[in-house]
Amino acid sequence: MTTLLAARSVSKTYRLGRVDVPVLRGVSVTVAPGEWVAILGASGSGKSTLLHLLGGLDRPDRPERPAKANGRGERHEALDDGQILFEGRSLQHMSQAELDRYRNVSVGFVFQFYHLLPELNVVENAALGAMIRHGRLGYMRRATECRDRARSLLELFGLGQRLRHRPAELSGGERQRVAIARALMNEPAVLLADEPTGNLDRATGAAIIDVIASFRETSKQTIVMVTHDIAVAERADRVLELRDGRVVEAK
Ligand code: ADP
Ligand code: MG
Repeated sequence: MTTLLAARSVSKTYRLGRVDVPVLRGVSVTVAPGEWVAILGASGSGKSTLLHLLGGLDRPDRPERPAKANGRGERHEALDDGQILFEGRSLQHMSQAELDRYRNVSVGFVFQFYHLLPELNVVENAALGAMIRHGRLGYMRRATECRDRARSLLELFGLGQRLRHRPAELSGGERQRVAIARALMNEPAVLLADEPTGNLDRATGAAIIDVIASFRETSKQTIVMVTHDIAVAERADRVLELRDGRVVEAK
């Protein structure tokens, strides 16, 4: 199996005052290109923490033995311990510019609470990913192309009649569709979704998963989705479970 994204025995400890709170204790996950992996776990089990590490939004604890290339430039597998690897490269070894590119282009994030900008309309919110990627001037040069892509994603997600609306004028399910369009704007290698249906009623949530599933049918989009809802997780190719700071194959 080729691996697109992996966590290799990754740990994450938060420090609250003088107390260490270990959240992830050696989590390993591998995601193949085109795969849809769901990570199930109770509230507080570390799902968001893990997704943030995979997306380069936060850093794992330093491994006790940092990974080092040997004299021939090879890395021993065990030396990848504690690393997040994208296409075989450790995020921790990327320069700031490479890491920014990874966060802005290689991955697309969907959050439980949408995080849309209230003063922007639907098309502008969806196009935001491209604005961040290209910078203001670069975006202005590509504005037509970017807005066209935003519009076509929004139409695909059933929002063709809402393009000029602002987030406050949309239902929760519609807002989440805009957030998904934004996440897909730059054609990310991996879509990372953090409880995308967590704030929606069951029927609306199921419709959101349908939108993601049908997009994935045609695009072969790689997806990592965390959820506490087994019905949502079961739509994926593979379900893992976070328990006691470790990942296990769900039964
Ligand atoms: P989940 O997404 O599965 O509900 P989280 O990853 O958000 O879980 O959080 C896991 C645990 O880590 C929780 O106990 C939470 O309180 C704690 N935690 C999360 N973020 C922080 C932080 N920035 N500082 C301290 N503790 C945190
Ligand atoms: Mg969470």
